Amino acid sequence: MQKITIAIDGHSSTGKSTIARQLAKALDYIYVDSGAMYRAVTLYALRNGMFENDTLQGEKLIAALPEITLRFGKNDSQGKADMYLNGENVEKSIRTLEVSGKVSIVAAIAEVRKKLVEQQREMGRDKGVVMDGRDIGTVVFPDADLKLFITASAETRAQRRYKELIDRGDQVSFDEVLENVRKRDHLDSTRKESPLIRAEDAIAIDNSHMTIEEQFAAIMDRARACISEKQESGS
Ligand code: C5P
Repeated sequence: MQKITIAIDGHSSTGKSTIARQLAKALDYIYVDSGAMYRAVTLYALRNGMFENDTLQGEKLIAALPEITLRFGKNDSQGKADMYLNGENVEKSIRTLEVSGKVSIVAAIAEVRKKLVEQQREMGRDKGVVMDGRDIGTVVFPDADLKLFITASAETRAQRRYKELIDRGDQVSFDEVLENVRKRDHLDSTRKESPLIRAEDAIAIDNSHMTIEEQFAAIMDRARACISEKQESGS
């Protein structure tokens, strides 16, 4: 069976990881959550006192990059991979609003992106990968076989993220979550390095009014069509 590379990009909290995980499971592919890697570097910067409010000591972080080791480790109970920072499972710590509030600042640094993009390309070398993020179809895998660009209104996305945080016991208000979503949209779309833009050949999907099942069915059809096409052309 021909394996393909699937790139999923889009704004924060659009449910990219849900789609990516579903696709990877159905196709028996590897799922890579590239955002988890940027979050782990952000956690490292926070823990090492490199932030003063929203000001990051970028040079210090760049100098520390060789000391930051990231890897994904299997989590059997969840059927997904957890993020490890220098050997420590940080899956829960990287999902806080504190990290969400700083990650776009870290992700704007060219040296950070270079390191993570290299590692991401390595993970996708043998195809059979679904990767989600902001620059997967434009920078990491510009030749990906199937590219999706997911979006939804800021309110819908904030509502989804708010529920997620409340369900796991975090004390947050809807307004601060909405503000974070808007702030990240702005920073991610306007930064100089690999800004969030739709690749010309990406299929745009607005899922504001779609159920997870409808969305999965539509995307799975696309993935199957893409795999058959590859199979027929033998490429
Ligand atoms: O996908 P997630 O919301 O976890 O990503 C967190 C942040 O990491 C994004 O808001 C963005 O700033 C950054 N990111 C990125 N490029 C990627 C993935 C994530 O810049 N490929």
